[in-house]
Amino acid sequence: MPKVAQRIATVPPYLFAQIDKKKSELMSKGVDVISLGIGDPDLPTPDFVVERMQREVANSRWHQYPDYDGHLLFREAVADFYKRRFGVDLDPKQEVLTLIGSKEGLAHLIWAYVDPGDVVLIPDPAYPVYQIHASLAGGTPYFLPLTRERNFLPDLSLVPEEVARRAKLLFLNYPNNPTGAVASLDFYEEVVAFCQRYDILLVSDNAYSETTFDGYVAPSVLQVPGAKEVAVEFWSFSKPFNMTGWRIAAAVGNADALYKGLGIIKTNTDSGQFTAIQMAAVEALTHPQSEAFIREMNAIYQRRRDLAVEGLRAAGLQVEPPKGTFYLWVPVPKGHTSTSFAELLLTEAAVVVTPGVGYGQYGEGYVRISLSLKEERLKEALDRIRKALKG
Ligand SMILES: *Cc1c(COP(=O)(O)O)cnc(C)c1O
Repeated sequence: MPKVAQRIATVPPYLFAQIDKKKSELMSKGVDVISLGIGDPDLPTPDFVVERMQREVANSRWHQYPDYDGHLLFREAVADFYKRRFGVDLDPKQEVLTLIGSKEGLAHLIWAYVDPGDVVLIPDPAYPVYQIHASLAGGTPYFLPLTRERNFLPDLSLVPEEVARRAKLLFLNYPNNPTGAVASLDFYEEVVAFCQRYDILLVSDNAYSETTFDGYVAPSVLQVPGAKEVAVEFWSFSKPFNMTGWRIAAAVGNADALYKGLGIIKTNTDSGQFTAIQMAAVEALTHPQSEAFIREMNAIYQRRRDLAVEGLRAAGLQVEPPKGTFYLWVPVPKGHTSTSFAELLLTEAAVVVTPGVGYGQYGEGYVRISLSLKEERLKEALDRIRKALKG
């Protein structure tokens, strides 16, 4: 076998390998390990989406290659949703592009824009896809620290002028994985102005816009007047409709970024998403029970969140309830690193949590706890954590 490409060397080593190994060892000994590490909804896709899929899969028109840009009905449904939900006008033919999940879209957008040496502004901690593809494409990641003191929002005034001038892309993700932080429209206004000043494409990963609590409603960056000149947003069906396995999302916003950038890479890489899945996604957005379904999911996550915050505080950990996402970002006790604390919880409580350092150096000092498991199991995990830390 020949050696893999040099660029693979830029992919950081898998940080959770040690923990995965220990988890497998425990499980092979028959230990009941509970994972709070998984960022994937445990509840099923709504019946109305599944039933639409069952009908559409039999439609032989969809058995051929799909439209590259996505079926117009899908793009129209996304545009209607943006109008209804955010008050944002989108032209479904030029400002909406169908994706096989946000992940591929985010990755391919980077390949459409980043030449070797270009700077990519990336929050730290963050979803690893931004940094990995920026590096694979030969770009230079410049990290924007997200700290508790600034409510996990980046301070753009700290970006040196010459770095900003070399930057092509700026990534944001609110409600935020892994910190659970949210961003206001005022903050988005500042970022849009910054991107206009330096001619940077703003990439908003809005995967958790619908996963919010306590009456909080998350904005879209496209609500900022003029944002479409500099921004694209990624909106995924994965989290709000428990559809991570279906692989369906949309990129919306700046027409050139979508159709002269991302779309060029995509038409030469994939051939679009199965049209039956796009039709099922239309059902997700347009069914009369759609909003009620999301409310029901959020009520479940909110209950789990409150249970987890209470349980973790009883175990002596300081944690704030997030307004969005299904993650808790928990500071580790003094004397621990994120990895040593995750190892302790695995060994002493048979509970898996994700070390924050896996999301970037500013994730050090935290672990991420996911709420995507049944209440009974969550309670059991919290009990075990309390016993392990308090004896
Ligand atoms: C889950 C998630 C996504 C969604 O990815 P899909 O590929 O659409 O399933 C995107 N960004 C972040 C930060 C996520 O946590």
